[in-house]
Amino acid sequence: RPRPLVAGNWKMNGLRASSEVLSEIMAGYGAGLRNRADLLVCPPATLVAALAGAAKGAVGVGGQDCHAKASGAHTGDISAEMLADAGASHVIVGHSERRADHGETDAVVRAKAEAARRAGLVAIVCVGETQAQREAGETLTVVASQLRGSIPAGAMAADLVVAYEPVWAIGTGLTPTAADVAEVHALIRTELGTLVGEAEAGRVRVLYGGSVKPSNAAELMAVANVDGALVGGASLVAADFLGIARVY
Ligand code: 13P
Repeated sequence: RPRPLVAGNWKMNGLRASSEVLSEIMAGYGAGLRNRADLLVCPPATLVAALAGAAKGAVGVGGQDCHAKASGAHTGDISAEMLADAGASHVIVGHSERRADHGETDAVVRAKAEAARRAGLVAIVCVGETQAQREAGETLTVVASQLRGSIPAGAMAADLVVAYEPVWAIGTGLTPTAADVAEVHALIRTELGTLVGEAEAGRVRVLYGGSVKPSNAAELMAVANVDGALVGGASLVAADFLGIARVY
């Protein structure tokens, strides 16, 4: 079973004073927990360098998005190489908020994941169905199709994490049942086997995200094929983020 990863996605939250949250996370990340799980914080791009400097590798620091190109005339964008240069180890790509707010297709997400690998970053590729798709019974076909379209050919467990985030569970307090999570994560593991080969697929960390908090983390993280969490709101409060990680 892969070593668990608990990742925080701060989204568009955090000012320089928020480095205090990282300090609290580091203070609470004792030897026992360090032996059991990896922690990652993905702050807004403005804070990646400062937090990576403060984290000194004890806690990973990641970006929330990157451009597919390494450099060029793309005003406002940030490349995977720039994130790596700022000290990031990971980058989230294809978050449903990027897919919805910025029209990112699977092909765009795959190009970003390829850029991450080129820059030496681990890509956290996000997939997940909308409420309408779930109600229409399309969850498994949607997730399988997103995976096939978004994961680069030749991806390895060393450069890929997959996050299953049902869109309707993000920021709503709603979560799928453990049985529903198990069904989707099993499908993801099977699809990964086809995409990257059985041996590699078994080593890829598959995270669950969507309204994870300390009170539901134990149940969600105990589900088969769940190798950690991608945490939004609760990752902004060190005690809550640590409370989630401590289920390991
Ligand atoms: P919440 O934990 O706030 O529901 O957000 C989940 C998420 O989108 C993490 O990427």
